[in-house]
Amino acid sequence: MKILAVNAGSSSLKFQLLEMPDEMVITSGIVERIGYDNAEFTIKVNDKKVTEKLEIKNHKVAVHLVVEGLIKHKIIKSLDEIKGVGHRVVQGGELFKDSAIITDEVVEKIKSLNDLAPLHNPANITGIQAFREALPDVIQVAVFDTTFHQTMNELAYLYAAPYEWYKKYGVRKYGFHGTSHQYVSERAAELLDNPNAKIIVCHLGNGASLCAVDGGKSVDTSMGLTPLEGIPMGTRSGNVDPAVLMLIAAKENKTYAEVLDDLNKKSGYLGVSGISNDSRDIIDNMNKGDYRSMLAHKIQIKRIADYIGSYYVYMGGLDAIVFTAGIGENSPEIRKGILEAISVLGVTVDEEQNSKRGERMVSTSDSRVKAFIIPTNEEVMIAREVIRLENL
Ligand code: AMP
Repeated sequence: MKILAVNAGSSSLKFQLLEMPDEMVITSGIVERIGYDNAEFTIKVNDKKVTEKLEIKNHKVAVHLVVEGLIKHKIIKSLDEIKGVGHRVVQGGELFKDSAIITDEVVEKIKSLNDLAPLHNPANITGIQAFREALPDVIQVAVFDTTFHQTMNELAYLYAAPYEWYKKYGVRKYGFHGTSHQYVSERAAELLDNPNAKIIVCHLGNGASLCAVDGGKSVDTSMGLTPLEGIPMGTRSGNVDPAVLMLIAAKENKTYAEVLDDLNKKSGYLGVSGISNDSRDIIDNMNKGDYRSMLAHKIQIKRIADYIGSYYVYMGGLDAIVFTAGIGENSPEIRKGILEAISVLGVTVDEEQNSKRGERMVSTSDSRVKAFIIPTNEEVMIAREVIRLENL
Protein backbone atom coordinates (compact mmCIF):
# COMPACT_ATOMS: atom_id res chain seq x y z
CA MET A 1 0.00 0.00 0.00
CA LYS A 2 1.15 3.55 -0.74
CA ILE A 3 1.87 6.01 2.07
CA LEU A 4 2.96 9.61 1.61
CA ALA A 5 5.49 11.05 4.09
CA VAL A 6 5.40 14.86 4.22
CA ASN A 7 7.68 17.49 5.74
CA ALA A 8 6.22 21.00 5.41
CA GLY A 9 8.45 23.99 6.17
CA SER A 10 7.59 27.67 6.06
CA SER A 11 8.32 27.95 2.32
CA SER A 12 8.92 24.35 1.27
CA LEU A 13 7.16 21.01 1.15
CA LYS A 14 9.15 17.78 0.88
CA PHE A 15 7.46 14.48 0.19
CA GLN A 16 8.19 10.84 -0.37
CA LEU A 17 5.76 8.20 -1.61
CA LEU A 18 6.55 4.80 -0.15
CA GLU A 19 5.30 1.30 -0.87
CA MET A 20 4.64 -0.24 2.51
CA PRO A 21 5.31 -2.54 4.23
CA ASP A 22 8.20 -3.14 1.80
CA GLU A 23 9.59 0.32 2.64
CA MET A 24 10.43 0.97 -1.01
CA VAL A 25 10.56 4.59 -2.23
CA ILE A 26 8.27 5.02 -5.25
CA THR A 27 9.07 8.69 -5.76
CA SER A 28 10.13 11.78 -3.87
CA GLY A 29 10.21 15.49 -4.46
CA ILE A 30 10.07 19.00 -3.14
CA VAL A 31 8.14 22.21 -3.68
CA GLU A 32 10.51 25.07 -2.93
CA ARG A 33 10.20 28.82 -2.33
CA ILE A 34 6.41 28.66 -1.88
CA GLY A 35 5.01 32.20 -2.00
CA TYR A 36 8.11 33.63 -3.76
CA ASP A 37 8.58 34.61 -7.42
CA ASN A 38 11.06 31.83 -8.17
CA ALA A 39 9.03 28.91 -6.81
CA GLU A 40 9.58 25.46 -8.29
CA PHE A 41 8.29 21.91 -8.06
CA THR A 42 10.66 18.95 -8.45
CA ILE A 43 9.57 15.32 -8.63
CA LYS A 44 11.50 12.16 -9.45
CA VAL A 45 10.09 10.33 -12.49
CA ASN A 46 11.81 7.05 -13.39
CA ASP A 47 14.77 8.11 -11.24
CA LYS A 48 15.15 11.41 -13.12
CA LYS A 49 14.39 14.76 -11.53
CA VAL A 50 11.72 16.78 -13.35
CA THR A 51 11.58 20.46 -12.32
CA GLU A 52 8.87 22.97 -13.19
CA LYS A 53 9.04 26.66 -12.38
CA LEU A 54 5.54 27.94 -11.63
CA GLU A 55 3.60 30.37 -9.58
CA ILE A 56 3.03 28.62 -6.22
CA LYS A 57 1.13 31.09 -4.07
CA ASN A 58 0.70 28.99 -0.94
CA HIS A 59 0.84 25.50 0.56
CA LYS A 60 -2.63 24.66 -0.77
CA VAL A 61 -1.38 25.19 -4.32
CA ALA A 62 1.80 23.23 -3.50
CA VAL A 63 -0.19 20.24 -2.24
CA HIS A 64 -2.38 20.24 -5.35
CA LEU A 65 0.75 20.24 -7.50
CA VAL A 66 2.10 17.24 -5.61
CA VAL A 67 -1.06 15.12 -5.79
CA GLU A 68 -1.80 16.08 -9.40
CA GLY A 69 1.89 15.56 -10.26
CA LEU A 70 1.71 11.97 -9.01
CA ILE A 71 -1.10 11.30 -11.49
CA LYS A 72 0.27 13.46 -14.33
CA HIS A 73 3.61 11.63 -14.23
CA LYS A 74 1.77 8.26 -14.06
CA ILE A 75 3.28 7.39 -10.68
CA ILE A 76 -0.23 6.50 -9.50
CA LYS A 77 -3.43 6.02 -11.52
CA SER A 78 -5.81 7.44 -8.96
CA LEU A 79 -5.60 9.22 -5.60
CA ASP A 80 -7.40 6.25 -4.01
CA GLU A 81 -4.07 4.43 -4.13
CA ILE A 82 -2.73 6.70 -1.34
CA LYS A 83 -3.84 4.97 1.86
CA GLY A 84 -2.32 7.34 4.38
CA VAL A 85 -0.33 10.55 4.82
CA GLY A 86 2.23 11.00 7.60
CA HIS A 87 3.29 14.52 8.57
CA ARG A 88 6.47 15.47 10.35
CA VAL A 89 5.65 17.88 13.19
CA VAL A 90 8.57 19.44 15.02
CA GLN A 91 7.15 20.15 18.49
CA GLY A 92 4.71 17.83 20.26
CA GLY A 93 5.47 19.19 23.73
CA GLU A 94 4.19 17.07 26.61
CA LEU A 95 0.81 16.73 24.89
CA PHE A 96 1.98 14.06 22.46
CA LYS A 97 3.64 11.00 23.95
CA ASP A 98 2.89 9.11 20.74
CA SER A 99 2.17 9.90 17.10
CA ALA A 100 -1.47 10.93 16.56
CA ILE A 101 -4.20 10.42 13.99
CA ILE A 102 -5.05 13.95 12.88
CA THR A 103 -8.45 15.30 13.86
CA ASP A 104 -9.63 18.89 14.42
CA GLU A 105 -8.81 18.41 18.10
CA VAL A 106 -5.25 17.26 17.33
CA VAL A 107 -4.74 20.29 15.06
CA GLU A 108 -5.87 22.57 17.90
CA LYS A 109 -3.47 20.86 20.31
CA ILE A 110 -0.56 21.30 17.87
CA LYS A 111 -1.50 24.97 17.48
CA SER A 112 -1.43 25.35 21.28
CA LEU A 113 2.29 24.48 21.12
CA ASN A 114 3.14 27.24 18.63
CA ASP A 115 4.88 29.34 21.31
CA LEU A 116 7.39 26.53 21.82
CA ALA A 117 8.23 26.22 18.10
CA PRO A 118 7.16 29.47 16.41
CA LEU A 119 9.25 28.84 13.28
CA HIS A 120 8.19 25.25 12.70
CA ASN A 121 4.79 24.22 14.04
CA PRO A 122 2.71 26.82 12.14
CA ALA A 123 4.29 25.64 8.87
CA ASN A 124 3.65 22.00 9.77
CA ILE A 125 -0.02 22.82 10.43
CA THR A 126 -0.33 24.63 7.11
CA GLY A 127 0.88 21.47 5.36
CA ILE A 128 -1.49 19.27 7.37
CA GLN A 129 -4.52 21.45 6.59
CA ALA A 130 -3.70 21.58 2.88
CA PHE A 131 -3.45 17.77 2.67
CA ARG A 132 -6.65 17.31 4.69
CA GLU A 133 -8.44 19.45 2.10
CA ALA A 134 -6.83 17.76 -0.90
CA LEU A 135 -7.31 14.19 0.39
CA PRO A 136 -10.29 14.42 2.77
CA ASP A 137 -10.95 10.66 2.95
CA VAL A 138 -7.36 9.63 3.60
CA ILE A 139 -6.03 8.98 7.11
CA GLN A 140 -3.46 11.58 8.17
CA VAL A 141 -1.03 11.05 11.02
CA ALA A 142 1.22 13.52 12.87
CA VAL A 143 4.67 12.19 13.77
CA PHE A 144 6.53 14.43 16.21
CA ASP A 145 10.28 15.08 16.47
CA THR A 146 9.91 15.23 20.23
CA THR A 147 7.86 12.09 20.98
CA PHE A 148 10.77 9.65 21.15
CA HIS A 149 12.33 11.79 23.90
CA GLN A 150 9.19 11.84 26.06
CA THR A 151 10.66 8.82 27.92
CA MET A 152 13.36 11.06 29.46
CA ASN A 153 12.84 11.49 33.19
CA GLU A 154 12.67 14.86 34.91
CA LEU A 155 16.31 14.65 36.03
CA ALA A 156 17.24 14.72 32.35
CA TYR A 157 14.67 17.19 31.05
CA LEU A 158 14.30 19.84 33.76
CA TYR A 159 16.49 22.92 33.71
CA ALA A 160 17.77 24.11 37.08
CA ALA A 161 15.78 27.34 36.61
CA PRO A 162 12.69 28.54 38.52
CA TYR A 163 10.35 25.54 38.59
CA GLU A 164 7.40 27.82 37.86
CA TRP A 165 8.82 28.45 34.35
CA TYR A 166 8.33 24.78 33.65
CA LYS A 167 4.86 24.65 35.20
CA LYS A 168 3.59 27.89 33.66
CA TYR A 169 5.32 27.98 30.27
CA GLY A 170 6.62 24.48 29.57
CA VAL A 171 10.28 25.53 29.82
CA ARG A 172 12.16 22.20 29.76
CA LYS A 173 14.26 20.11 27.45
CA TYR A 174 12.21 18.42 24.71
CA GLY A 175 14.88 17.22 22.29
CA PHE A 176 14.49 16.88 18.51
CA HIS A 177 15.44 14.53 15.62
CA GLY A 178 13.37 11.92 17.49
CA THR A 179 12.26 9.96 14.42
CA SER A 180 15.88 9.69 13.28
CA HIS A 181 17.18 8.69 16.72
CA GLN A 182 14.45 6.08 16.99
CA TYR A 183 14.96 4.64 13.49
CA VAL A 184 18.72 4.43 13.83
CA SER A 185 18.77 3.06 17.39
CA GLU A 186 16.19 0.37 16.52
CA ARG A 187 18.39 -0.72 13.63
CA ALA A 188 21.50 -0.69 15.84
CA ALA A 189 19.75 -2.90 18.43
CA GLU A 190 18.93 -5.31 15.59
CA LEU A 191 22.55 -5.36 14.41
CA LEU A 192 23.71 -5.95 17.99
CA ASP A 193 20.95 -8.55 18.41
CA ASN A 194 20.25 -6.94 21.78
CA PRO A 195 16.99 -5.06 22.45
CA ASN A 196 18.40 -3.90 25.80
CA ALA A 197 21.53 -2.34 24.29
CA LYS A 198 22.90 0.97 25.54
CA ILE A 199 23.44 3.12 22.47
CA ILE A 200 24.51 6.70 21.76
CA VAL A 201 23.25 8.04 18.42
CA CYS A 202 25.20 10.91 16.88
CA HIS A 203 22.82 12.56 14.37
CA LEU A 204 25.31 14.91 12.72
CA GLY A 205 23.86 16.99 9.91
CA ASN A 206 23.62 20.74 9.47
CA GLY A 207 21.50 20.45 12.63
CA ALA A 208 23.02 17.95 15.03
CA SER A 209 22.05 16.18 18.23
CA LEU A 210 23.09 13.23 20.35
CA CYS A 211 20.74 10.79 22.05
CA ALA A 212 21.36 8.24 24.78
CA VAL A 213 19.13 5.22 24.15
CA ASP A 214 18.84 2.58 26.86
CA GLY A 215 16.79 -0.52 26.03
CA GLY A 216 15.05 1.23 23.11
CA LYS A 217 14.12 4.34 25.11
CA SER A 218 15.59 7.83 24.90
CA VAL A 219 17.00 8.66 28.35
CA ASP A 220 18.79 11.90 27.41
CA THR A 221 19.43 14.07 24.39
CA SER A 222 21.49 17.14 23.63
CA MET A 223 18.91 19.53 22.11
CA GLY A 224 16.67 21.38 24.52
CA LEU A 225 13.67 23.68 24.55
CA THR A 226 14.74 24.53 21.01
CA PRO A 227 17.22 22.96 18.56
CA LEU A 228 19.84 25.54 19.62
CA GLU A 229 21.03 23.69 22.73
CA GLY A 230 23.69 20.99 22.67
CA ILE A 231 26.72 20.48 20.45
CA PRO A 232 28.00 23.10 17.97
CA MET A 233 26.40 22.64 14.51
CA GLY A 234 26.72 24.08 10.99
CA THR A 235 25.49 27.53 11.99
CA ARG A 236 24.22 27.01 15.57
CA SER A 237 26.41 27.56 18.61
CA GLY A 238 25.07 24.78 20.82
CA ASN A 239 25.55 25.54 24.52
CA VAL A 240 26.80 28.98 25.49
CA ASP A 241 26.43 30.90 28.73
CA PRO A 242 23.08 32.73 28.35
CA ALA A 243 24.78 35.86 29.73
CA VAL A 244 26.37 36.21 26.27
CA LEU A 245 23.00 37.56 25.10
CA MET A 246 23.17 40.56 27.38
CA LEU A 247 26.83 41.33 26.73
CA ILE A 248 26.60 41.19 22.92
CA ALA A 249 23.26 43.02 22.83
CA ALA A 250 24.88 45.89 24.76
CA LYS A 251 28.18 45.90 22.84
CA GLU A 252 26.66 45.63 19.35
CA ASN A 253 23.46 47.55 20.00
CA LYS A 254 21.30 44.57 19.11
CA THR A 255 18.08 43.17 20.52
CA TYR A 256 18.13 39.79 22.29
CA ALA A 257 16.25 38.36 19.30
CA GLU A 258 19.02 39.53 16.98
CA VAL A 259 21.76 38.01 19.15
CA LEU A 260 19.77 34.78 19.34
CA ASP A 261 19.57 34.85 15.56
CA ASP A 262 23.38 35.17 15.44
CA LEU A 263 23.65 32.12 17.72
CA ASN A 264 21.29 30.21 15.40
CA LYS A 265 22.56 31.35 12.01
CA LYS A 266 26.09 32.75 12.32
CA SER A 267 27.74 30.44 14.84
CA GLY A 268 28.94 26.83 14.94
CA TYR A 269 31.26 25.85 12.07
CA LEU A 270 30.45 29.11 10.27
CA GLY A 271 31.06 31.35 13.25
CA VAL A 272 34.31 29.80 14.43
CA SER A 273 35.86 29.26 10.99
CA GLY A 274 34.49 32.42 9.37
CA ILE A 275 34.43 30.34 6.16
CA SER A 276 31.56 27.86 5.89
CA ASN A 277 28.84 25.90 7.63
CA ASP A 278 29.68 22.80 5.58
CA SER A 279 31.87 20.12 7.17
CA ARG A 280 33.58 19.43 3.83
CA ASP A 281 34.86 23.03 3.62
CA ILE A 282 35.96 22.92 7.26
CA ILE A 283 37.99 19.72 6.75
CA ASP A 284 39.47 20.96 3.43
CA ASN A 285 40.55 24.27 4.90
CA MET A 286 41.88 22.65 8.05
CA ASN A 287 43.98 20.32 5.87
CA LYS A 288 45.32 23.41 4.07
CA GLY A 289 46.47 24.79 7.43
CA ASP A 290 43.62 27.18 8.25
CA TYR A 291 43.75 27.65 12.03
CA ARG A 292 40.13 28.66 12.62
CA SER A 293 38.81 25.74 10.56
CA MET A 294 40.93 23.45 12.75
CA LEU A 295 39.37 25.11 15.81
CA ALA A 296 35.82 24.71 14.43
CA HIS A 297 36.47 21.00 13.84
CA LYS A 298 38.18 20.31 17.16
CA ILE A 299 35.79 22.30 19.32
CA GLN A 300 32.90 20.29 17.90
CA ILE A 301 34.69 17.01 18.52
CA LYS A 302 35.51 17.97 22.10
CA ARG A 303 31.88 18.90 22.80
CA ILE A 304 30.61 15.66 21.28
CA ALA A 305 33.11 13.67 23.36
CA ASP A 306 31.95 15.56 26.48
CA TYR A 307 28.36 14.44 25.85
CA ILE A 308 29.36 10.87 25.09
CA GLY A 309 31.34 10.68 28.35
CA SER A 310 28.40 12.05 30.27
CA TYR A 311 25.90 9.62 28.66
CA TYR A 312 28.29 6.70 29.28
CA VAL A 313 28.27 7.48 32.98
CA TYR A 314 24.51 8.21 33.07
CA MET A 315 23.63 4.90 31.37
CA GLY A 316 26.27 2.97 33.35
CA GLY A 317 27.94 1.61 30.23
CA LEU A 318 27.77 1.61 26.46
CA ASP A 319 27.39 -1.02 23.75
CA ALA A 320 27.54 1.11 20.61
CA ILE A 321 27.99 4.55 19.10
CA VAL A 322 26.03 5.15 15.92
CA PHE A 323 26.71 7.83 13.29
CA THR A 324 23.98 9.13 11.03
CA ALA A 325 22.82 12.11 8.86
CA GLY A 326 24.89 14.13 6.34
CA ILE A 327 28.13 14.34 8.33
CA GLY A 328 27.71 11.15 10.36
CA GLU A 329 27.13 9.09 7.20
CA ASN A 330 29.71 10.79 4.97
CA SER A 331 32.68 12.16 6.90
CA PRO A 332 35.37 9.59 7.82
CA GLU A 333 37.52 12.36 9.37
CA ILE A 334 34.84 13.49 11.79
CA ARG A 335 33.84 9.93 12.79
CA LYS A 336 37.50 9.07 13.37
CA GLY A 337 38.10 12.27 15.35
CA ILE A 338 35.17 11.49 17.66
CA LEU A 339 36.06 7.81 18.12
CA GLU A 340 39.69 8.67 18.90
CA ALA A 341 38.57 11.31 21.40
CA ILE A 342 36.61 8.66 23.32
CA SER A 343 39.11 5.79 22.94
CA VAL A 344 39.33 5.56 26.74
CA LEU A 345 35.83 4.00 26.63
CA GLY A 346 37.26 1.03 24.72
CA VAL A 347 36.45 1.81 21.10
CA THR A 348 38.94 1.25 18.27
CA VAL A 349 38.42 2.52 14.70
CA ASP A 350 38.59 0.12 11.76
CA GLU A 351 40.25 2.52 9.30
CA GLU A 352 39.27 0.59 6.19
CA GLN A 353 35.59 0.26 7.11
CA ASN A 354 35.52 3.87 8.30
CA SER A 355 36.68 5.07 4.88
CA LYS A 356 33.53 3.57 3.26
CA ARG A 357 29.88 4.59 3.05
CA GLY A 358 26.62 2.80 3.83
CA GLU A 359 25.48 0.75 6.79
CA ARG A 360 28.48 -0.96 8.40
CA MET A 361 30.50 -1.45 11.58
CA VAL A 362 33.41 0.99 11.68
CA SER A 363 35.05 -0.32 14.87
CA THR A 364 37.44 -3.28 14.93
CA SER A 365 36.02 -6.70 15.82
CA ASP A 366 37.79 -6.66 19.21
CA SER A 367 36.52 -3.14 20.08
CA ARG A 368 34.68 -3.31 23.44
CA VAL A 369 32.27 -0.57 22.37
CA LYS A 370 31.08 -1.00 18.76
CA ALA A 371 30.68 1.86 16.29
CA PHE A 372 28.35 1.87 13.29
CA ILE A 373 27.30 4.00 10.36
CA ILE A 374 23.53 3.64 9.94
CA PRO A 375 21.92 5.89 7.30
CA THR A 376 18.86 7.55 8.77
CA ASN A 377 15.45 7.34 7.16
CA GLU A 378 12.88 9.63 8.75
CA GLU A 379 10.38 9.09 5.92
CA VAL A 380 10.27 5.33 6.46
CA MET A 381 9.79 5.92 10.19
CA ILE A 382 6.88 8.28 9.43
CA ALA A 383 5.29 5.75 7.06
CA ARG A 384 5.72 2.98 9.67
CA GLU A 385 3.91 5.17 12.20
CA VAL A 386 0.96 5.70 9.82
CA ILE A 387 0.66 1.93 9.39
CA ARG A 388 1.03 1.23 13.13
CA LEU A 389 -1.58 3.77 14.20
CA GLU A 390 -4.13 2.83 11.61
CA ASN A 391 -3.49 -0.93 11.74
CA LEU A 392 -3.28 -0.72 7.98
P1 AMP B 1 21.99 17.00 6.62
O1 AMP B 1 21.52 18.18 7.43
O2 AMP B 1 21.80 15.69 7.33
O3 AMP B 1 21.48 16.98 5.21
O4 AMP B 1 23.57 17.18 6.50
C1 AMP B 1 24.14 18.25 5.77
C2 AMP B 1 25.63 18.33 6.07
O5 AMP B 1 26.25 17.06 5.84
C3 AMP B 1 26.34 19.29 5.11
O6 AMP B 1 26.31 20.60 5.59
C4 AMP B 1 27.74 18.74 5.12
O7 AMP B 1 28.43 19.33 6.21
C5 AMP B 1 27.59 17.26 5.41
N1 AMP B 1 27.83 16.42 4.22
C6 AMP B 1 26.96 16.14 3.24
N2 AMP B 1 27.53 15.36 2.30
C7 AMP B 1 28.81 15.14 2.71
C8 AMP B 1 29.91 14.42 2.18
N3 AMP B 1 29.82 13.75 1.02
N4 AMP B 1 31.07 14.41 2.88
C9 AMP B 1 31.16 15.08 4.06
N5 AMP B 1 30.16 15.78 4.60
C10 AMP B 1 28.99 15.81 3.95
